[in-house]
Amino acid sequence: MQRKPSDPQGAPRPAFGRSKRSQLNVIDYTLAKRALLRDAQAGLQSVNELCDAHPELMRAAKYVGEPTRSDCPVCKKDKLVLLAYVYGDRLKQENGRVWSIDTGMRMAAADPDTCCYVVEVCRSCQWNHLREAFTGRHTATG
Ligand SMILES: [Zn+2]
Repeated sequence: MQRKPSDPQGAPRPAFGRSKRSQLNVIDYTLAKRALLRDAQAGLQSVNELCDAHPELMRAAKYVGEPTRSDCPVCKKDKLVLLAYVYGDRLKQENGRVWSIDTGMRMAAADPDTCCYVVEVCRSCQWNHLREAFTGRHTATG
């Protein structure tokens, strides 16, 4: 699982600017996702288990999901939408809430102890997977 992320085909890029990304540490989950999808195609993993989005996640995807141009890798019938979940000790009652990608990234950039998880969801088959995680960079100014 420790292969280098060489990616000749180029993964579809989320539709947000690079300026904000440069202020953040990014963890990319593309490889984990591909491995899972490969297993599903090989019959090692049940597609039903992959497409198990929580009703609340589906509701969020429907109302606040940000559209992408990427086809769902499982059913290929719908475009994926993205959701941002933000976790941080200082967020109190807003901890774990869903936000727009933009707001989520801004929150992560503003507080190094806050993490923004971007989840991709298919509104047709309920495929869902963690796509990227963003954390703010600790700065010397503290
Ligand atoms: Zn789908």
